[in-house]
Order: sequence, then C-alpha cells, then structure tokens
Amino acid sequence: MPQPHLWKRSEVIDALDQPISNPYQVLRPTDASVKPNKHAPDPMKWLEENSNNKYAETAKERDFWRSVPAWGKHISPKPRAALISLVRNSELEGLMQSMRQLEYHWNRKYNYPWVFFNDEEFSDEFKAATQNLTNAQCYYEVVPQEHWSLPDWIDEGRFMNSLEYLGAIGVGKGWMVSYRHMCRWNSGFFYKHPRLKDFDWYWRVEPDVHFFCSIDYDIFRFMRDNNLKYGFNMNILDDARSFPSLWSRTRSFINAHPEHIHPDADLDWLLDNDSPSSSSSATFSSAGGGGGSGEYNNCQFFSNFEVGSLAFFRSAANEAYFNWLDRAGGFYYERFGDAPIHTLSVAMFVPKSEIWFFRDIGYQHDINRHCPPNSAHRCDCEPTRLDENFYKLVPLESPQRKPADTCIRRFLGGGGLVEKKEGWNADVERAWGGDGYGGYVLSGLE
Ligand code: GDP
Ligand code: MN
Repeated sequence: MPQPHLWKRSEVIDALDQPISNPYQVLRPTDASVKPNKHAPDPMKWLEENSNNKYAETAKERDFWRSVPAWGKHISPKPRAALISLVRNSELEGLMQSMRQLEYHWNRKYNYPWVFFNDEEFSDEFKAATQNLTNAQCYYEVVPQEHWSLPDWIDEGRFMNSLEYLGAIGVGKGWMVSYRHMCRWNSGFFYKHPRLKDFDWYWRVEPDVHFFCSIDYDIFRFMRDNNLKYGFNMNILDDARSFPSLWSRTRSFINAHPEHIHPDADLDWLLDNDSPSSSSSATFSSAGGGGGSGEYNNCQFFSNFEVGSLAFFRSAANEAYFNWLDRAGGFYYERFGDAPIHTLSVAMFVPKSEIWFFRDIGYQHDINRHCPPNSAHRCDCEPTRLDENFYKLVPLESPQRKPADTCIRRFLGGGGLVEKKEGWNADVERAWGGDGYGGYVLSGLE
C-alpha cells in the first residue's frame, strides 16, 4: 500500500509568501461577551505549537489505531472522533468529491474513520467506492426507523398542509417529507446512533462540498485540548419562513428551564432590538412568554459544516431543548432546520469561549463559499470577504428580520469588527446602491 504523503515542516514553511506572526488574530470574539479567565486554554498558542502536522500518523500508527476495538476509552491519547455523513446511495459521486478533497487536504495525514448514515442500506457500490478513497476505517450505518419517521403526536393532516404551503410559497425543499426527517435527525438523533457510542467528536461532511485548504493540524485534538464544544465556518441568514415559531418556542423554553442556560452563555449576538435595517413586519410578532428583550435576528451557523462535541449534544440541556421543540411539532408543522436549532442550542448552553470560528478552513456548499484571506493556509481559492455569505440565501429585499451588523460580526463582537468609520451612514450607502452593511473599520481581511 502506498504511504500517505506527510507534509514536512520545511514544505509548509516554504509555502509561506511572507512571515505572518499570527494568521488567526482577528478571528476570535474579543468583546465583553467572553469572560476573561487566565486559566482558560489558549487556542492560538495551541496552533502555534501543534501545527505543521505534528500529530500526522504513520501507516503503522494508523494500523494500530484501526486495530483497537471501539477506540478503547482508557488507552486513547487520540481523540475518539469520526467524520460523519448522512447521505443517499444516489449521492455517491458528490460524496466522493467531498471525500477526495477532505482526504487530500487533511484526513490522509490523520486517518479518522468515516461513518456513513443512510435511511436505507448502503449499496455495495457505495461501500466499495468510498472505502477506496481512504486508508481509514469506514462504517456504513442505517438510521433506526424510529429516528426517521413521523412521531405519533403529529397530526398528519396538519403536516400535509405544511408541505403544501411551504412548497407553494417557495421555501427550499418545503414540500419534501424526507427533508423534514433529515432536519429532525440532524437536530436530535445523529448523536444517539449506536455507532457513535464510542466516539466523542464528529465532523459533519455533506456530498458535493469543497475543501480548499491544506489543514496542517489535528482538528479534533485542537477541539479537545482547548475545551471547545462547537466549530463552524459560516454564520449567515437563511429563510426564516421555515421556522416562524422557533424563537417563541425557544423563549418559552428559556422561561420554563432557566437552569439549563449556561451562566457564561451569550445570546446577545443573536438578538436584535428593532434597528433601521430590520423590517417592521417582524416574523415573530406572535412571540409570547417574555424572557429577555430582543427578537431572534435569524443568524445561524451554516451546519452542513460543523465540528462538534457529541457529549455536548447528548447533554441534558440540549436534549431538553430538542424534545421541547420536537413535542411542539415544528419539524413537521413548520420546517425547522438543524442549523438554527444547533445555533440557538450552542448559544444558550455553551460559553462563547468554547465556540470556534474555523476561519482557516476553505469550504464551499452550493453557492456559499468561505475562503481565508491568509496565504499561510495554503488554499486553492480566492479569499472571500468576512461578510461574503451573510445574505446570499436571503435576498436583501425579503421582509424577514435581519441583524444590524452581519452575522459573523455580531458573533465576533468587539475588536473593531462592529465599529463603523466616522461619518459613515447606512442610508447614504443604500441611496448609492450599496447594501447598507459597509463602512466597517476593519474589513476582516487584515
Ligand atoms: P441542504 O444542504 O439544506 O440543501 O440539504 P441537503 O439536500 O444537502 O441534505 C442535507 C444532508 O442530508 C446531505 O448530506 C444529504 O445527503 C442528506 N440527506 C437529505 N435527505 C436525505 C435522505 O432522504 N436520505 C439520506 N440518506 N440522506 C439525506
Ligand atoms: Mn447540502
């Protein structure tokens, strides 16, 4: 078997156009929403010390870890982690594209297993073709029926009406039954699959996505060693007509279960008080129950890319929240997506310092693309602006609520990222054909 190519330190250094002291510097929330703590892990320092493929595996090490039954909890210095993908047999080609790129840019050096999930058996062709693309172990799993079917408390007539209505008004895949099951599975069931019992971390991968940059550190060790719970790389708006009651349900959850809210959680970046750029025909006028000020601004981590802690998703808080939403029927009477749900859950139950923006991972899903500005990341893509994907999925003209600053800036907060240049004016910018989201002191490409 050919040896995987391991990047040597010298190769990585040769690739740098210029010395860069800290390619990550503007990427972290630096405002008051992150509690100072001098004992907290320092992800920047970690990256300086552990990049250059420090933990790349030899073939021998890989074979050793493959031979360990169930990734033995007590002997493993390597995080028990997997690349996971829910995918159909018919999406094999698209998945092969995603796999080839992620293997080439990262996993051939780290050999984390792949776990494929499907609502039916995988074909032999699917199994053979995917296993061919990796030296790592592959698992092929069927989703249990009870995780992929209409719960008995759902009124079928009401569900049918919703399919017809959301289809008619043009909400993406609003008419598809399977899409509803998929969103619900990604929200509340993937982490309960028996195959993931022996795993602590996952990286979600979809068919037909792109990875553009060589990643020269072990993403999962990075998450574990820095006590991170959730990592994302796009933070954007999506069609809020798919979840009209999500915020009012969430607010009532907060009122009913304040004990689950983490003391260092920061929800502010997701809540906007009425601002000039948000419409008066707010989607959530029916929100009741009080519980803090502000309305959900519809920002969400774009969850087709995510790296996360399974322990977090299995936690009592996340489970209680998922069940709360599920009982109310939002996956079927509306089309709740896993993206806003993961976003709200992470924001409520995880301190902001444990959420990570993977600015260094170049990635594309359909028309949304994220490419880091810094050549230190060895990317085959043209750098994108920090705000690039903000309203790609929701036209500016849409009446849905939008935040006053772009989602990623709302998340990152201080450090100049939401400061505007002196004299800048949104109305003037719009009058001259702009979108009203310019004028920031920092472009994000610094
Ligand atoms: P979008 O990204 O929101 O447009 O949704 P996708 O169609 O890409 O679906 C999200 C993920 O779920 C992808 O990985 C799909 O392959 C997977 N998926 C969606 N529906 C089904 C389904 O009915 N069966 C299976 N096995 N996978 C599905
Ligand atoms: Mn997709």
